[in-house]
Amino acid sequence: MAACGETAPRRFPAGEIVGQNVDLGHLLREGRSFEVAPNNWQTVKVAIVGGGVAGLSAAWKLTNENFNDFVLLELEKEVGGTSQSGQGTPVGYPWGAHYLPVPFKENTELVGLLDEMSLLEGRETSDEWRVKEQFLCREPEERIFYKGRWYDGLYLHAGESEEDKRQFAEFQKHVDRWVNWRDVSGRRAFVVPVANCSDDAEATALDRISFADWLRQNGFTSERLIWYCDYGCRDDYGLKLEQTSAWAGLFYFCARVRASGNESQKFITFPEGNGRFVNHLFDRVKEKVQKSHAAVSLVPTENGVEVICLDGGEFRGFRCEKVIFASPILTAPFVIRGFADEAPFAAGEFQHNAWFVANLFLKDRPSTRFARDFPLSWDNVLYESPSLGYVNATHQKGIDYGPTTLTYYYPMCHEADGRTKLFNYTWHELADVCLTDIARAHPEIYDLCERLDIMRWGHAMISPRPNFIWSGIREKAIRPWRNIHFAHTDLSGIALFEEAFYHGLKAAGEAVGQMHDR
Ligand SMILES: Cc1cc2nc3c(=O)[nH]c(=O)nc-3n(C[C@H](O)[C@H](O)[C@H](O)COP(=O)(O)OP(=O)(O)OC[C@H]3O[C@@H](n4cnc5c(N)ncnc54)[C@H](O)[C@@H]3O)c2cc1C
Repeated sequence: MAACGETAPRRFPAGEIVGQNVDLGHLLREGRSFEVAPNNWQTVKVAIVGGGVAGLSAAWKLTNENFNDFVLLELEKEVGGTSQSGQGTPVGYPWGAHYLPVPFKENTELVGLLDEMSLLEGRETSDEWRVKEQFLCREPEERIFYKGRWYDGLYLHAGESEEDKRQFAEFQKHVDRWVNWRDVSGRRAFVVPVANCSDDAEATALDRISFADWLRQNGFTSERLIWYCDYGCRDDYGLKLEQTSAWAGLFYFCARVRASGNESQKFITFPEGNGRFVNHLFDRVKEKVQKSHAAVSLVPTENGVEVICLDGGEFRGFRCEKVIFASPILTAPFVIRGFADEAPFAAGEFQHNAWFVANLFLKDRPSTRFARDFPLSWDNVLYESPSLGYVNATHQKGIDYGPTTLTYYYPMCHEADGRTKLFNYTWHELADVCLTDIARAHPEIYDLCERLDIMRWGHAMISPRPNFIWSGIREKAIRPWRNIHFAHTDLSGIALFEEAFYHGLKAAGEAVGQMHDR
């Protein structure tokens, strides 16, 4: 027992660092050559390298087109990449991506996936698809913790001055203008997928400055407005305001709004987040998937590509006509032979940031401390914190009592060389960051949390820093090189389910299309 005046030591839950094979990077950087025994070669028409959303979507497309001569190689024990999830009691939980905004009707292939998953129930009068109520994020959606209290929403209205109100309204006018903006061809400045955005100079000039500079240039000084924009950048990009391009900053606010005055598209979510989509895609293509198969060498040949992968301790080879490269783009020079010499595009410019995600398994949920506190929501954000707060896994199931799982998100953007630091921290140190942060709002978290597992994402998301998205770098990477078709969300400069899905489908269509053309 603690003596008088001493604080009782805080009880840490059980837990561990899970996931992510960090040894592969070292193996690839060694630049070794890999020998495959003659009887370990197979022939397939297409090999997909990477089983995240992009790779699985490519496989889904091939399967839908009755093209079955392919294999998908995934280095981890599970598919899904940054959209993977865990199974638990009372519900599953995400390890990364946790929602998808309802796509516009023009995104027909994504609408097709939602239809195939039985998520739709007809059309609205406006012709937009209607998603079944049980899959749309239920109320209360989000709340924010500020100076000891929880408030409704993400933007902190409580205590705002007249000047804060004026600036918030003014910011909204800018958003409305960009939502309604069209170029001479009728294209929007901001829409999902990025491939459909206008390349008109008026819009793309925004990519040359940071979002922080854009706010300054437009006279925005309101602390809470700046916080709100900074939160958006951290949330979708894992970057601070001054690290994010103004184009990407406005994309966050405009791309999912149909017309000015409309609300942003509603969110589709599940307890296990976008793991639901991953599991559906995987179910459709699982016969073709080889897990724990790291592609270590892609050797372009005259007629195709030889893919060498590490299967346990053994090397296996696939002779293919085409490869769909759905792994992070920055790994291309390490995996693809001859890439570094010829450098068809600047793969090193596809820079990622680092995050950690913690799942906290609670025996009961935190209590509401003040009668006027806004209740536990799906998304629970802490204003005075470098984290993004936590998402409640049981929310969507309507289970509002008893055990739950909270998923806590922490981008390493506040630290110089965040990736190295992330991998130097022990489980105990990261758990301490997480628990100390959540304890501001829920001091009882130490008693409630029975287990806390952590996933470190060394290469979590592409960074849409200034002068990247519209610099021309992506354009070159989108083109196939020596029978290798690139297909990672990186190609959009923005990490989103929709972008990975788009590139997966595009690469699959092009790879098979070219084979048919011959
Ligand atoms: C913390 C976090 C939260 C997010 N939240 C959301 C969200 O709510 N909504 C949303 O839309 N998006 C979100 N995202 C982004 C989203 O997860 C991604 O955009 C999308 O899942 C990317 O899919 P991908 O297939 O392009 O890439 P990845 O997820 O990076 O998948 C690449 C795959 O390739 C595999 N691989 C790598 N190298 C090799 C190799 N040599 N051989 C074989 N396999 C290899 C990897 O193991 C991985 O499975 C989030 C991302 C993170 C990190």
